[in-house]
Amino acid sequence: MNMPLKIPENHPRADSLRIRERLVEAFEQGAVARAGLIAHGRGEAFDYLLGEQTNQPAKEAIRAAAALLLTAKKPVISVNGNFVALTPKEIVSLSKSAKAEIEVNIFYRTLEREKIIKSLLERVGATRVLGVDEVNSTCIPELGSERRRVSSDGIFLADVVLVPLEDGDRTEALIMMGKKVIAIDLNPLSRTSTKATITIVDNVVRAMPKLISEVETLRSTEVTDLTVIAEQFNNKANLNKSLTYIVERLMELAG
Ligand code: ATP
Repeated sequence: MNMPLKIPENHPRADSLRIRERLVEAFEQGAVARAGLIAHGRGEAFDYLLGEQTNQPAKEAIRAAAALLLTAKKPVISVNGNFVALTPKEIVSLSKSAKAEIEVNIFYRTLEREKIIKSLLERVGATRVLGVDEVNSTCIPELGSERRRVSSDGIFLADVVLVPLEDGDRTEALIMMGKKVIAIDLNPLSRTSTKATITIVDNVVRAMPKLISEVETLRSTEVTDLTVIAEQFNNKANLNKSLTYIVERLMELAG
């Protein structure tokens, strides 16, 4: 096992390095899969292009996502190792404020990894985590990977599913099952981003606290108004804005 890296406070990339360390630690605990470390690298590259901040299109997506969560009958937060490594407290906090179930759903599924992910969530206050050693599981049609197995009490019944760091096939399968999907993905070009109902193009580390606070802000809004906010959101147009943001930023940097 590697010694944890001591990151100097004044290091210009201290935040990013700290996040990496959290992932490495969760990898060594068995929560994050090897491929999860690579997926994080892809995210980091896009975060660099985005300037490592929550931009205006992401804020609009966060508002629409909060409205959708508040109008959902059965919202579910789908979690994997990376997501739990990066934002365990926020997952639990969002599940409480949006009255959403938490379900472990991982590509490289082993009972041991499921249990480790669940225990990391319980350590920060989760009382019910679905998808671990599930006797009540159902399969999502048209999906080959281990992620097709979902809890009959969770994702299978859900009307809205939050799926950070997701792969495109499963997002598409959930949409085909009639579910609304909220994705948090730094890559505006990924299949997940383009297939989801609402994509927040941002780092989960920044997006989750903002999503929690937006749920609080909108909590007392009339359901009809929340429905309008969620339905007026145009994912394709918003993804185009994220891409334009990147292009304009790069043009500016290029002088
Ligand atoms: P798709 O199948 O949707 O095209 P993909 O093949 O890129 O996506 P994965 O390999 O599962 O799917 O990658 C996970 C996604 O998560 C990547 O698009 C990456 O940009 C994104 N990602 C990685 N780290 C973060 C993070 N911290 N916050 C938000 N998104 C992230």
